[in-house]
Amino acid sequence: MSATYDPNNIFARILKGEIPSVKLYEDADVVAFMDVMPQAPGHLLVIPRQGSRNLLDADPAVLAKLMPVVQKLALAAKEAFEADGIYVAQFNEPAAGQTVFHLHFHVIPRHDGQPLKPHSGGMEDIEVLKANAEKIKACL
Ligand code: 5GP
Repeated sequence: MSATYDPNNIFARILKGEIPSVKLYEDADVVAFMDVMPQAPGHLLVIPRQGSRNLLDADPAVLAKLMPVVQKLALAAKEAFEADGIYVAQFNEPAAGQTVFHLHFHVIPRHDGQPLKPHSGGMEDIEVLKANAEKIKACL
């Protein structure tokens, strides 16, 4: 039996306002916020309001709303952190590294020669996340 969407997953709870997050952007379909365990400064997540476990069960119409926002945030993060590149990642199911089962795209500024911290590593200070969010929002 394939796994189903859990409407009480942590990102669904962020969408419902039950868990705080450092928000960057929201519209009728999409929300973006800072990752609490960033792999590099400026690591953010873009999620649809509509629930799906990941890309595999997502409605293509939702993806059509989501990807322009991924691009918008990637451009803002690149400018805000004067990044050499932007890493966009999206994992499907545990075998692929997924740990939160609500579709999300990681957007991570990259600098030449600087390795990423581990995935789901240490929690960042909330004030650092807020300061980094302000830098990105200023470039939106
Ligand atoms: P996945 O492995 O599912 O692609 O990544 C989930 C991401 O969500 C990880 O990068 C992790 O740091 C992040 N994350 C986990 N819990 C929370 C949370 O409560 N709030 C935020 N903002 N990010 C979270």
